[in-house]
Amino acid sequence: MFVDSHCHLSFPELAGDIAGVLARMKVARVEAALNVCTTLDEFPQVLTTAASAPNLYASVGVHPDSTGTQEPAVDGLTRLAEHPKVVAIGETGLDYYRLQEPLEWQRERFRVHIRAARDCRKPLIVHTRSAADDTLRVMREEGADRVGGVMHCFTETAAVARQAMDLGFSISFSGIVTFKNARELQATAASIPLDRLLIETDSPYLAPVPHRGRQNEPAFVPHVARKIAELRGVDVEELALATTNNFYRIFNILRVVY
Ligand SMILES: [Zn+2]
Ligand SMILES: [Zn+2]
Repeated sequence: MFVDSHCHLSFPELAGDIAGVLARMKVARVEAALNVCTTLDEFPQVLTTAASAPNLYASVGVHPDSTGTQEPAVDGLTRLAEHPKVVAIGETGLDYYRLQEPLEWQRERFRVHIRAARDCRKPLIVHTRSAADDTLRVMREEGADRVGGVMHCFTETAAVARQAMDLGFSISFSGIVTFKNARELQATAASIPLDRLLIETDSPYLAPVPHRGRQNEPAFVPHVARKIAELRGVDVEELALATTNNFYRIFNILRVVY
């Protein structure tokens, strides 16, 4: 069985067909998915969707790229995270790719998430793009190692992965690792210790080969697993078992067999 550690079921592409998403997960042997929050406005729907099925989970947080939206506060995030279906804080982090400096507000927003995660003792879902040094620096300054979590949709170097793992974080790979031009990332994916590895779709975006360019969904996560297993020269079942166990351990979830 596989687990999709990061997807966006509340985005309009998927929100209208949750029953279909769940049915196709079952056929693809994807036993669970983490529905990730990107704005506080979106959170009620993220949670409602997660609460509608035993094998869906939610996070609470405001994406670094979300602008013109309600700014999160530590106590607000902590309160929303009290719901038993909320297993993580995020997605949060830094993204210098789409937005330009001054981005002190983005770093401050990231700090708020780390403080909330420490307060409620839940792991962090960290998004980082074109900002690896600052991301690691803020994580160190705010003591993110006390809660750990995941570096999601990882596209940075092996050296960055190593530093994140030193802070107790695991590394999650998306469909990008199946892309032909992702040679360096593929080498990194092959080098991550098995107990620190997660797989995700980040759907509805970034569909893995052979669905590249089309709408993505949790049922496609086995393609990510198969590619990483091939890169590591191991059986896909071994990769599936490890990443599934890692998911439940990292997010402190009691596995539901349904
Ligand atoms: Zn992200
Ligand atoms: Zn995401």
